[in-house]
Amino acid sequence: MEIIKTRSELRKYLENKRINHSAIGFVPTMGALHQGHISLISQSAAQNDLTVVSIFVNPRQFNDRNDFEKYPRNIDADIKLLEYSGCNVLFLPEYNDIFTKDLPVALDLDGLDAIWEGAFRPGHFKGVVDVVDALFDAVQPHKAYFGRKDFQQLLIIRKLAEQYYPTIEIVECKIVREPDGLAMSSRNARLDGEGRKAAGSINRILSECQVMAVQHATVKQVADFAMNSLQLVPGLKTEYIAVCDKNTLFSAPAEKSACGYMLLVAVWCAGVRLIDNFYLKG
Ligand code: AMP
Repeated sequence: MEIIKTRSELRKYLENKRINHSAIGFVPTMGALHQGHISLISQSAAQNDLTVVSIFVNPRQFNDRNDFEKYPRNIDADIKLLEYSGCNVLFLPEYNDIFTKDLPVALDLDGLDAIWEGAFRPGHFKGVVDVVDALFDAVQPHKAYFGRKDFQQLLIIRKLAEQYYPTIEIVECKIVREPDGLAMSSRNARLDGEGRKAAGSINRILSECQVMAVQHATVKQVADFAMNSLQLVPGLKTEYIAVCDKNTLFSAPAEKSACGYMLLVAVWCAGVRLIDNFYLKG
């Protein structure tokens, strides 16, 4: 595995590969890698000749300074894990090397950046778009892999690709979960024993919502159930619950059947903010 730290070095390395018509897959991450990240890398390795993984904790996407400072960083363990993951190139850029463009991208996001995560984390998606734009520009991959875990982010990245990088295929990857259903996340490392136990309830409650949807519950019934059940778990504090359209993320009408809508949640647990989602199948 090559470790490359500058854009210019990366460009030179990838140019040579492109001459040989290698298909390039790309997995952007913020490190503190877990099996969720590894599943994206495995998928890329299976579908491309070369897989580039980036690790960059992007300060621009943290609306909360404390969250940025406490974000887990473990580069030595990450490199060890990557050696066996199917990653060919690890790109480790510095802030000043990655943010070189003068003009920010002017994206039409159809309001996707203003609701849910966007509303509760002002500036977050602007930071995400800035960094993914810079990384796409540096890597110019054929395919880029994003987790469904960050569902709103995935929709926004699709808009970025449609408008600025139409040749990059965005590949959506399923959520990898812990045995008790908690969606894997780098932030889970910050959960203590009690908090970790409480966090396991999130997926249990979302799964119960799925059962309700199959039994023809309405959007309001599912949302109320999720809100009340999460409230009953000691140590959890719900920030939002959304039952919404899977493309626009606009709230679903309260009296409609919940089937076919997306359920999104953001929950605070022991000082750690966790997000999860579930597609309510019929
Ligand atoms: P992050 O390092 O948190 O920025 O995540 C990098 C990529 O990994 C993003 O596309 C995430 O959606 C994805 N990801 C994070 N956690 C998971 C998970 N549990 N399952 C699948 N993908 C994930």
